[in-house]
Amino acid sequence: MVDPLRKPDGPAVQFMIVDFLTEILKFSSSPSDMADHLTRLLRELMGVRVVMMLQHDDRLSEWVVRIVAIEPKRTQGQVLVRDLAQFIDLHPPQGGAVLILRSSVSPDLVAILDRMGLDSLSVTPLRVGDLRVGTLMALDYPDHEHSDDVLALLDVLAPVFALTLQNALHFESQEARVVAQAEEYRTLLRTSPDGFLTVSGSGVILHANEAYLAMTGYTLEEICNLSLSRLEARETPPVLGEHIARIKMNASDRFLSVYRRKDGSVFPVEVSTTYVPTRGVFLSFVRDLTELKRAEEETARLQIQLQQSQKMESLGLLAGGVAHDMNNVLGAILGMASANIDAHAPESRTYRAFETIIKAAERGGKMVKGLLGFARHTPAEQQVLNLNAILQEEIRLLERTTLARISLLTDLDPDLRPIMGEASSLTHAFMNLCVNAVDAMPGSGTLTLRTRNLGQDWIEVVVEDTGVGMPKEVLERAMDPFFTTKGVGKGTGLGLSLVYSAIKAHQGEMEIQSDPGMGTRVRMRFPACAPPSRSLEAEKAPAPDERRSSLAVLVVDDDELIQYSTQALLELKGHVATTVSSGEEALAKIEAGYIPDVVILDMNMPGLGGAETLPRLRALNPTVPVLLATGRVDQFAVELARAHPHVTLLSKPFGLDELGQFLETVAGRGEL
Ligand code: ADP
Ligand code: MG
Repeated sequence: MVDPLRKPDGPAVQFMIVDFLTEILKFSSSPSDMADHLTRLLRELMGVRVVMMLQHDDRLSEWVVRIVAIEPKRTQGQVLVRDLAQFIDLHPPQGGAVLILRSSVSPDLVAILDRMGLDSLSVTPLRVGDLRVGTLMALDYPDHEHSDDVLALLDVLAPVFALTLQNALHFESQEARVVAQAEEYRTLLRTSPDGFLTVSGSGVILHANEAYLAMTGYTLEEICNLSLSRLEARETPPVLGEHIARIKMNASDRFLSVYRRKDGSVFPVEVSTTYVPTRGVFLSFVRDLTELKRAEEETARLQIQLQQSQKMESLGLLAGGVAHDMNNVLGAILGMASANIDAHAPESRTYRAFETIIKAAERGGKMVKGLLGFARHTPAEQQVLNLNAILQEEIRLLERTTLARISLLTDLDPDLRPIMGEASSLTHAFMNLCVNAVDAMPGSGTLTLRTRNLGQDWIEVVVEDTGVGMPKEVLERAMDPFFTTKGVGKGTGLGLSLVYSAIKAHQGEMEIQSDPGMGTRVRMRFPACAPPSRSLEAEKAPAPDERRSSLAVLVVDDDELIQYSTQALLELKGHVATTVSSGEEALAKIEAGYIPDVVILDMNMPGLGGAETLPRLRALNPTVPVLLATGRVDQFAVELARAHPHVTLLSKPFGLDELGQFLETVAGRGEL
């Protein structure tokens, strides 16, 4: 059978090589089939038992031998590659094919041949250039006589086998890479937080990844074969054909859209679509923007809140700055007018003029107090409050006034937790909200007052009306100081801004929801506190003592206007006033032996202010009643008054009535 090989370089051999090459070209698209085919041809030609192509991989730390092709295939499992590897290098370096006979090898190799039932084998190194890529082995020659011819033939064919082997190996590694890449790609799509859609050229969904299914609530079966247009929920969706044409033209497109979930709800998305010309298949990445939008809205909301509190802050600073001086001006006007009014007949023009001056000054005083509401950051008092009780008071008032046309719904949680704060400022705040609600319901409507606990730490108060509501541009500015939509003389525009300040002063939060025609809901949250453990003991009033009609009053105020007007008021009441313009002067006077019956002490003075003068004054005279005069009755003033016995706060500006009342109270307590 090896006859044709008698002349290894003769025409027969050349034909055979051409034949070989022609045959293997049939398999050119699959290099591993090519190797199989070549191996089979060679086995038939040589009539040996087994032919195989081995790959050596010396890139690994140990020499690894692997069968790439073997004929006949069934022998694959019987061949012990590790044993055969012992024969691989039994040829001279750079040499050609060798024939190994049982009779010509060392005993340990004989043992191997015996184990495999072999008599002979040939080993042909396969090289591409200088690179050894593997070995061709043929096992068991039937005819050893023509071994030279056989070896010559193997040498001739070796380069063809070497190229085929290299090709097959290259192909294998490429294939492995593609498989690995496909696997990576699949994992990526499966675990991606972004949705991924495969869409046909006509806009039909072919596949969706898990993230997309989770986003939309569809199952894979449900979504496959749906048209992409079913998912689009934009008000004006793009014409699908045009859209597809644009993506095809630009290869990819990135746009914002709104998609629909299975339950019909919609969500904002960012879509990146790529056109794959080879497959006619669109690939779309869909990113759910719901969270992002929510975060953006939250930022915007916080921004507005910040602006609001900054506005209040600057207004508060301004108010605080002018209030003191303004109060003194008003105090002087009020003092002088009320001191002099009684010198005139009640019907006279001058009397009426004084009356008007007094009213105007009082109104001015209230406005200044209102402004000071902005300047205050802590409630003037910290009492345990039951907001239900405050609201019930409000309800009684409303029932008497507006409830003919407006129905009132109350839903007050009987187990409402108390809060810490100042009753008067919250009463005022709730009243403002109720007035706004009533104003918003000119015909009829329903006003709802609701309270409830929000968990352990917060309580909620809701004031809701079914009135005209607010358009967006009004709602945005409703809390601005001096913003009003009510006519001149009707609205001051200070209602909601004072509500806001009062709530902030109580560490609370406030939110207004409103739409034109849909009414308005104001929701407020306050930090809850534990119920009071012990009832605060009411201060026991000492038994009344004899009263004195004429008192020696020491007036301590740096403002000359106040000195004059207070003196005028006191003298009108029959008291004797001594005026000094600083805390230092007052202390010096007392140290020098002056004994006042009452001291009117201004809080705000250069040098020793009221707060610094008071303890020194107490040291000199522990019992003299003190009227602490201040335009700002805040927490600090309240605590200061509380910390010392016989101290009463006197709110500036004061007229004859207020001062008279205070002096009487002081006298009534038997302190004089
Ligand atoms: P005022 O009541 O003096 O106008 P506010 O600060 O209380 O000032 O309110 C500001 C504006 O907010 C009002 O003029 C009105 O336009 C709007 N507003 C407030 N509360 C309501 C409400 N419950 N319903 C409709 N609009 C309201
Ligand atoms: Mg109002």
